[in-house]
Amino acid sequence: MKTSSLSGSCRVCGHTNSVHEQGPCVARGCRKKIKVCGATIHYIPTEEDSNVRGWVVCKPCPYHGREGRGVDYSSFPVIDKDADGNLYISQYGIST
Ligand SMILES: [Zn+2]
Ligand SMILES: [Zn+2]
Ligand SMILES: [Zn+2]
Repeated sequence: MKTSSLSGSCRVCGHTNSVHEQGPCVARGCRKKIKVCGATIHYIPTEEDSNVRGWVVCKPCPYHGREGRGVDYSSFPVIDKDADGNLYISQYGIST
């Protein structure tokens, strides 16, 4: 069964897909989409301040990273889920 990308919840962060945005990857001919979550807080236990605010990238392009065609998401951290189901930051933003 195919589900629309805007229904249900994100498989990484668990927020509903309606609070996410998707943008096409910057690379020419790449059909992958970069998915970012705009929910205000993500609980990331491995961080010093575990309530991480702001946009996070739930799914970068697997080949080209975080630069979208219209928006460059490189300053947002990339989150992922570990085997225990906890979120962690797999890649930090480029800004300090
Ligand atoms: Zn998400
Ligand atoms: Zn989220
Ligand atoms: Zn790409």
